[in-house]
Amino acid sequence: MTSDPAQRGEFDLIAKLFAPLTGGDDRALGLLDDAAVIPQKAGIDTVVSTDTLVAGVHFLMIESADVIARRLLRVNLSDIAAMGATPSAYFLNLSLPSDIGNDWLVKFASGLAADQQKFSLNLLGGDTTRTPGPLALSVTIFGEAPAGHAVRRSTAQVGDRIFVSGTIGDAGLGLARLQDGAGDADHLVQRYQLPDPRVSLGSALRGTATAMADVSDGLLADLGHICEASSLGAIVEASAVPVSDAARLAIGPEDTDVLGLLTSGDDYELVFTVPPGRIDHVHKASVQAGTPVTEIGRMEGVPGEVTVKGSDGGDITPEKTGYRHF
Ligand code: ADP
Ligand code: MG
Repeated sequence: MTSDPAQRGEFDLIAKLFAPLTGGDDRALGLLDDAAVIPQKAGIDTVVSTDTLVAGVHFLMIESADVIARRLLRVNLSDIAAMGATPSAYFLNLSLPSDIGNDWLVKFASGLAADQQKFSLNLLGGDTTRTPGPLALSVTIFGEAPAGHAVRRSTAQVGDRIFVSGTIGDAGLGLARLQDGAGDADHLVQRYQLPDPRVSLGSALRGTATAMADVSDGLLADLGHICEASSLGAIVEASAVPVSDAARLAIGPEDTDVLGLLTSGDDYELVFTVPPGRIDHVHKASVQAGTPVTEIGRMEGVPGEVTVKGSDGGDITPEKTGYRHF
């Protein structure tokens, strides 16, 4: 028997590397059965989402395995946050090319362990296969919300104020720097590699936000999804969009310089709508979660469309609103 678990077969891999990530959670049945068993709780909705990262599309093989693992969990956690739900468990599907060996997998599992602890969720199962294609990593995540109270995209109201968490556009600039060979000491590279899924803020906004989405494709694209789902328009003030000092240094001072930040993806911030009478609750939720929020506009204008206004009140809406795979 070789010392390389990847060579020893998937059962050893599961027992050595993945069973410890269940944290002894009864629902996982030790990863020894055909499936996990999740008891249902009265009055609670289970919120489920899945996201896949493919080498060369969503990450670069030069990134370290633990960072890739943590980003994989975090992009999934961001979807749970966007529903105002609390994470509870995940499943992990791995399609491994033959050059992925023991050292890579051990490091990958250590990244998962670190973020599982940080965000309080356990691994309950998954699937492991070989692939002739690139490394593909998929997580299915489960969260919980009081029945009927997960925050949707379709329920924004006309006149609602639009808010975003954190700062916008750092990750897009960070990815460009990473591709140009910058290291992970760079703040913008870090913002790309390890997004901060706004899980505490998301659940604190339940009952306050009328609609919410996470910013994965670009702020304008994801706000556009809220507009389409709610059949409302949105007007965003370019000068109000929160931009980090590092991003400000990288772009110019004009309103139009911000447009690139509004259309680059991977921020994993939250964009949400709030009736004017509930803005106090937003600030309370922000303090409680320790996550800054900024008002950037309001729900009005042409249904299904996002309009960006410059400081002089003119329309500076860009043609492309975000990243598209197809
Ligand atoms: P099957 O042959 O039915 O596909 P597997 O041998 O793939 O079953 O899985 C056996 C157990 O190991 C199951 O509980 C499954 O959820 C778990 N498992 C397999 N791969 C992974 C993985 N990558 N992460 C976590 N659990 C896994
Ligand atoms: Mg299987």
